[in-house]
Amino acid sequence: MLKNRMLKVVLFLGVFLLGASGTSALYYAWRNKSPFDFSMNKINEHEGVVPLVILGSGPASLSAALYGARQKIKTIVIAGNKPGGALTETSYIENWPGRPKILGTEVMKDLQEQAVQFGAEIISDAVERVDFSQWPFQIVTESGRTFYALVVIIGTGSTPKTLGIPGEQEYWGKGVTTCAICDAPFHQDKEVVVIGGGDSAIEEAIQLAAYAKKITILVRKDRMRAAAAMQDRLHDYANIEIKYNTEVRSIVGDGDLVTGVELFDSKTDTQSTMQVSGVFLAIGHDPNAALFKQYLKLDAEGTISLADRTQATSLAGIFAAGDVTDHRYRQAGVAAGDGIKAALDAVSFLQEHGFNTTVAREIEKRSKPTIAEKRVEVPQIKQLEELKEIINAAKGLVVVDYYAPYCPSCMRMLPSLSAVAAEFAEQVAFLKVDTSVSPEIAQEYHVPTIPCLMVFKDQKMIARINQPMSRKQLEELMNKLLDQEDA
Ligand code: NDP
Repeated sequence: MLKNRMLKVVLFLGVFLLGASGTSALYYAWRNKSPFDFSMNKINEHEGVVPLVILGSGPASLSAALYGARQKIKTIVIAGNKPGGALTETSYIENWPGRPKILGTEVMKDLQEQAVQFGAEIISDAVERVDFSQWPFQIVTESGRTFYALVVIIGTGSTPKTLGIPGEQEYWGKGVTTCAICDAPFHQDKEVVVIGGGDSAIEEAIQLAAYAKKITILVRKDRMRAAAAMQDRLHDYANIEIKYNTEVRSIVGDGDLVTGVELFDSKTDTQSTMQVSGVFLAIGHDPNAALFKQYLKLDAEGTISLADRTQATSLAGIFAAGDVTDHRYRQAGVAAGDGIKAALDAVSFLQEHGFNTTVAREIEKRSKPTIAEKRVEVPQIKQLEELKEIINAAKGLVVVDYYAPYCPSCMRMLPSLSAVAAEFAEQVAFLKVDTSVSPEIAQEYHVPTIPCLMVFKDQKMIARINQPMSRKQLEELMNKLLDQEDA
């Protein structure tokens, strides 16, 4: 009898431990049992093996790079198409610990310098695909480079959400955008709307307040989700208004530019039209995890799942940090902390699997030097007449890139433009126009957003792209236009 009772107690305790406290820990312990053969033979099979490869270059990735490199682990950061991450698209931030007020771009510049100082190598390229079914893990970039990593930290961040309503795609870059800091000057003395009720909506409205005559924040519920401190900041701006219970049903325009939005008031059940020149979206973000979903466990929101209180993913040797893992906090400081944890986890993992100075030396011997990218300085045109003369006299294609130093995505695109200009130097003339220096050129050519790329042939504009382009997209465009010329 007593024996039976004891057996029941033991069974109950076993089930309780497995079920209540241990499911996720056991799940990860099981998953994290390495499926790979972490031996020197495997490392010797490839050239270009790197102990630690970090994907992305926001606060999570660069903090991880700083910690990895400082432990003398060779660390490569593949920066992605948005170097510096989302923080480069904000203006001042007031909640970066230790600094009462600092520009987002400045935080990222400091973090990058610190990581590089300790030996991290930052590569301006983006990941195209990964193969995590083999070890060392294979990473192929958009420009065709292949890296093999002993461990990977994913810090690919998130992408702003879009509404999916009529007119949104048609007028993207023609008044519809997610970057207030880039396009605010194009709405001088005009009326605009910001859609969303979070901190980003408030930040965008404030960025617009110095230019636009009136900014209306459209909130779908009867309250904002933004922090009280952020909402308080709105009291300082007489030209910002909030409209609650308001959904945007469609975005309308004249074919070239946005002219208004069609609204639905869910409280009064009425529709109305509002005349605006700009629609700024601030409705949250989606995690950039699609490339990894066949290998890693994601949660219902599409963020990468982590083992309790660590940055380990469901696959041994792959760690993740920052917004790609987080739909709750989404703060730069939290992402940086996650990045540090990820690097510490990754370094422990390497050491547990026999990574020592002999292995490091062997990898160093077999590593391929990173080939320096060829770039040319793209000439800057300041006078309208000068630009017209060049376009009129050109025999082949002329590419004009409109940018401004305060536009983060423009500044990120310039290095790609220089690299592509070097590649196509024989066939295409590349020029750039700083719209803050030469606003009359932007006006003459009806530039509604930056970055904006225009291609001219025989004095006519034959292509126009109103959004940031990656190096790969620029190359594809050039090849397509040159093929059309040959045909
Ligand atoms: P949030 O997810 O916090 O807010 C998104 C907002 O958009 C919500 O009000 C949501 O409405 C609304 N929304 C979502 N979908 C739609 C839709 N289809 N139509 C209309 N409205 C929609 O995103 P944020 O980008 O604002 O902020 C993300 C994170 O970044 C937060 O943690 C925030 O604190 C942080 N952040 C911090 C800043 C700072 O501290 N300086 C600055 C910017 C961001 P609903 O509430 O009804 O769901």
